[in-house]
Amino acid sequence: MKIHVDGTLYEEEDAKISVFDHGLLYGDGVFEGIRFYDGRIFQLEAHIDRLFNSAHSICLRPPLTKSGMKQALLETVRANQLQSGYVRLLLTRGVGNLGLNPEHCRLPAVIIIVDYIRLYPAEIYKRGLKVVTCTTRRTTPTALSPMVKSLNYLNNILAKIEASQAGAEEGLMLNEWGYVAECTADNIFIVRNEGVVTPPVTAGALAGITRSVIFDLALDLGISLKEADITRHEVFVADECFLTGTAAEVIPVAMLDGRRIGVEVPGPITQRLTSEFHQLTRRVGTVIY
Ligand code: PMP
Repeated sequence: MKIHVDGTLYEEEDAKISVFDHGLLYGDGVFEGIRFYDGRIFQLEAHIDRLFNSAHSICLRPPLTKSGMKQALLETVRANQLQSGYVRLLLTRGVGNLGLNPEHCRLPAVIIIVDYIRLYPAEIYKRGLKVVTCTTRRTTPTALSPMVKSLNYLNNILAKIEASQAGAEEGLMLNEWGYVAECTADNIFIVRNEGVVTPPVTAGALAGITRSVIFDLALDLGISLKEADITRHEVFVADECFLTGTAAEVIPVAMLDGRRIGVEVPGPITQRLTSEFHQLTRRVGTVIY
């Protein structure tokens, strides 16, 4: 695959950044994961807006305008001649010295990686994920806003390790008050009494782009949807539970901490939303070629 680094396309083996890049030294940067389906980039505007908002929030000024960033992304996808795949777009603080002061970083770096993605095997979309609650908490909004999709994923990674060590496929992360925030790389939804509920961003959820697409789809389908604090107990007794994310799309959860969720997996509302979501990904998006 060809990879964009600061305006130039490189072969994978030649795509390199400095060891003095603060993205590496301090996780000082922001990123997006973006999907393209059948020659169209899904939710490109929303991803670019979120990237720029994340960057603005951490005082990182992108070296490209929004339209320049979109062009760079489109050119990188075109150079790889793919119809469907995944793009990882990174903006780092750039090269500085070993001190953490970002004032020494002259120019933020832009990295665009195109790849295939398959997060979970197809059978998990049929039987549902096994999830466990992790002791590692979601980053508290009092430390770093969960609205910032930063390169600091260490607590999510620790939660993922906990989940794997417990033999589960995903880890549920609570916030500092013990309410459900999200999973390690996906937002969480429950279904009860035919309505959908998801934690608000104030509970520590990332403002997921798939999450907001689900909001729109629920509205179109006449399914009630609300943002509310959720406890583990409410997940245990939910009729259905599913996760959303750019890479995972919509994926059912079968079990949390050894408790089965609902009777049918995927449940009827999860199935409706999944099927609408798939149709939408093929219908809309920024045309690549
Ligand atoms: N939460 C976290 C922590 C994430 O990293 C992601 C993205 N993988 C999501 C939720 C889902 O967000 P999106 O739908 O925008 O991919």
